[in-house]
Amino acid sequence: MITAYYHPGYAAPIGKHVMPITKFSRVADALRGEAGVRLEEPRPVTEEDLLRVHTREYVAAVATGEPRDLAESQKFPWSPELYRSVLLTNGGCLAAARRARSDGVAAAIASGFHHSHADHGEGFCTFNGLVVAIDAMIAAGEIRSAAVLDMDLHYGNGTASLARTRPYLFNLSIYGNDYAANTAYRDVRERRHEDGINHRSIALPAGSGRKEMMAAMEAGLELILASGRPDLLIYQAGADPYREDPYSPLDLDHEDLRVRDRRAFEFAREHGLPIAWVLAGGYTEDTSKVVRVHLNTFAAALGVFR
Ligand SMILES: [Zn+2]
Repeated sequence: MITAYYHPGYAAPIGKHVMPITKFSRVADALRGEAGVRLEEPRPVTEEDLLRVHTREYVAAVATGEPRDLAESQKFPWSPELYRSVLLTNGGCLAAARRARSDGVAAAIASGFHHSHADHGEGFCTFNGLVVAIDAMIAAGEIRSAAVLDMDLHYGNGTASLARTRPYLFNLSIYGNDYAANTAYRDVRERRHEDGINHRSIALPAGSGRKEMMAAMEAGLELILASGRPDLLIYQAGADPYREDPYSPLDLDHEDLRVRDRRAFEFAREHGLPIAWVLAGGYTEDTSKVVRVHLNTFAAALGVFR
């Protein structure tokens, strides 16, 4: 049985936006009654949880809307509901990470928010739920180390920046769009960021298909193993590498992404690593295709962990 954390309050009212915020409820609805999946509501994270990762000024800006440019640095219109929705979304990450430690696998039907930095948001990412979850578990003594396998289309610049002061965190980003200073770059031939010992990245050039992605993934999984055996693996199962996604220069279809997902879960099982996954990005105009990528990730997990 795989527990998936979902809350209707994940969705903040952001109006018409490239981010298809309805996808979370559509994924949850499709999973209701699915054999092998149990939906649970997470509790929101606390302000204390946020303050391990984010500055007091930034947390206050998102809570109050002032200063507005900081409250909207992630490129969402601020509303009084935004703060509560992000507490719940981060809460889903934390609940899934905790559940993975007991069950071996769990999911949050939510985003990880990998572009979020300590003192501001970027790229639709308000607070970095990946690191908020990891730091909460480190603080509680539940884990001593964690790795993030980030296979969203975009380079996870926020998580990488947070890794710099966290030797217990290993971040691996396999990306087809670089990301720096709140801007995505389709052309990855020039690297716009610097890797460090515990934050590594592998670029997928435009046109990459399954063969290139899987080769990058195998190299990345080796890096995760070489970093030491983490007590927890968080997998960003992005839907935006999909070939029809407006941001994606990659040539990956539904089956290619399912192969990717299956490999992530097989790797976790082979090495006894508890794995929690989050949905991450996905912007294909026909949202049903984004939903399908995310549901395929559940099918892959059920195939490995049933
Ligand atoms: Zn993305």
